[in-house]
Amino acid sequence: MHHRVTLIPGDGIGPEVAQATQRVLEATGVQFQWDTAIIGDQAQHTFGTTLPQSALDSIKRNKVALKAPLTTPIGSGFRSVNVALRQTLDLYACLRPYKVYPGVQHAPYKDVDIVVVRENTEDLYSGIEFAKDSPEAAQLLEFVFNATGEKLRTDSAVSLKVISQAASRRIVTFAFEYARQNNRRKVTAVHKANILKFSDGLFLDTARQVAEGYPDMEFTDILVDALCMQLVRRPQQFDVLVLPNFYGDFISDLCAGLVGGLGLAPGANIGDNIAVFEPTHGSAPKYAAKNKANPMAMMLSGVMMLRHLGERDSADKLEMSIAEVIAEGKDVTYDLKPDPADSTAVGTSQVADAVIEKVKRG
Ligand code: NAD
Repeated sequence: MHHRVTLIPGDGIGPEVAQATQRVLEATGVQFQWDTAIIGDQAQHTFGTTLPQSALDSIKRNKVALKAPLTTPIGSGFRSVNVALRQTLDLYACLRPYKVYPGVQHAPYKDVDIVVVRENTEDLYSGIEFAKDSPEAAQLLEFVFNATGEKLRTDSAVSLKVISQAASRRIVTFAFEYARQNNRRKVTAVHKANILKFSDGLFLDTARQVAEGYPDMEFTDILVDALCMQLVRRPQQFDVLVLPNFYGDFISDLCAGLVGGLGLAPGANIGDNIAVFEPTHGSAPKYAAKNKANPMAMMLSGVMMLRHLGERDSADKLEMSIAEVIAEGKDVTYDLKPDPADSTAVGTSQVADAVIEKVKRG
């Protein structure tokens, strides 16, 4: 049976890690029909938009996509195409497993196994922002003054933090369902409800209500600042974390640091009917076209995709092959060497060669 999958090669190191991943996936013997879709920087040049309709149509048709990272310029310029993609396709759950593989040099603990479930569609990343000196910002400041008596500085820019009950219920339910289906025991809701009483307060109240429907599962909550400290001191106490979008972004990178770096952090953006698998890391432009980036985060995203497609044996085989290459420590990129300047570090495509050899040997 062929699986039709939309492949988004992305920007920067994207095309290299995508090709390496395509090769290892094909080595498992699973049959794919790749539907390549250009999104991001390159699409802007070719189609005059970063998110062409043809790419969206391909993802909607195939329902599964494998996506490499895209570049988003900081500050002015186009809006994040990643955010637009997640919102347009309503990929409301960002799922990121963080597990330490034996042999990883830069993991501070050897027994971390945390799953981050991040709300993907709202919070501070709703994309609703008002620039300094804009008429909209002035109107908003006036509204705030009339409603609260607070006189905000007239040279302010404003970004809205929006948390809804519906989106909170949906993401916490997703976290509990995931936990139940994957033999996890505990879900922890992350928030700052002591200060943000209405937005994060709503998230926490909703999480508590949803938790009542899962009496078989332990439920706890924690302030996001306390979580940062606890993740550094004793990460083993956490199992599944469910977070609003903004906190989910930086807690994901903290967790990536716990398992050996961004080169080992896979992920998926999941909606009711569509799933887009992608690494946590960005397009690392400084390493583009240098055959230097670690493709394992994208390969492990491919493992998640295989499981989603029902190809469990192939997923296990590919994950074990990647783990073996990590454990041997020979055919790995610079970021997995004890000293990143180690001249024995191999390139992106050589990692793929080594993984394929393990897959074939079975
Ligand atoms: P980044 O993740 O691209 O890179 C940060 C650093 O991490 C790199 O300089 C490199 O040292 C290391 N790194 C990242 N991926 C690696 C890999 N696979 N192998 C080895 N080392 C790796 O983050 P950034 O520099 O903040 O962002 C670059 C661009 O990527 C920005 O335009 C940003 O908006 C975008 N971005 C996209 C996504 C996405 O498409 N999902 C996610 C994050 C960032």
